[in-house]
Amino acid sequence: MRLLLIEDDPMIGAGMQQALRGEGYTVDWVRDGVAAELAVADNPYELLLLDLGLPRRDGIALLQRLRADGNTLPVLVITARDAVADRVRGLDAGADDYLVKPFDLDELGARVRALLRRQRGAAAPTITLGPLQVDPAAHTVTLHGTPIRLSAREFSLLCALLEQPGKPLSRAQLEERLYGWDEEVESNAVEVHIHALRRKLGAEWVRNLRGVGYYLPVQT
Ligand code: CA
Repeated sequence: MRLLLIEDDPMIGAGMQQALRGEGYTVDWVRDGVAAELAVADNPYELLLLDLGLPRRDGIALLQRLRADGNTLPVLVITARDAVADRVRGLDAGADDYLVKPFDLDELGARVRALLRRQRGAAAPTITLGPLQVDPAAHTVTLHGTPIRLSAREFSLLCALLEQPGKPLSRAQLEERLYGWDEEVESNAVEVHIHALRRKLGAEWVRNLRGVGYYLPVQT
């Protein structure tokens, strides 16, 4: 799962990026509001972590613009401003939740999981595809009730494919979902993770449509 971190403070940004990567997320990091807008337009993020006090374009202005454009990505506002009025402005501008600095990194992780879960529908924290059950928040997978251990990348790959069973995703689309900008991607990285997923779930689970991409079969 790929997240965008928008934070101009190098220490706080580095700490957040490291903590979230440790939980298996792919995290791109930009330092100002204009770069954030460009990044959102170009990349398939699932959540934004947004500092309010930013150079070039203020976090509130950025958020208002995204919402005005119809962008519905979950946004967790991170702010040093502890004034109630700023939090209210953030929520009114379309934020889904907020954290006030300084915050605990465990709390950050919990808020991110909660927002991602809410985005998928609070009533269904688990994604089910036939005998396959995936809990994105807990990072657990079971097949016919048997737990399957996946690496963070394999898990992200499976979640991407689960969004629309039957619809192939190309290697480039999967690469975009798995890797941030500053990560070196080996040319066959996606195939390596696909191979591992097939080995763990069974080859019938991850299908290849030659020249198009990979998909999970629709279960009837
Ligand atoms: Ca700031």
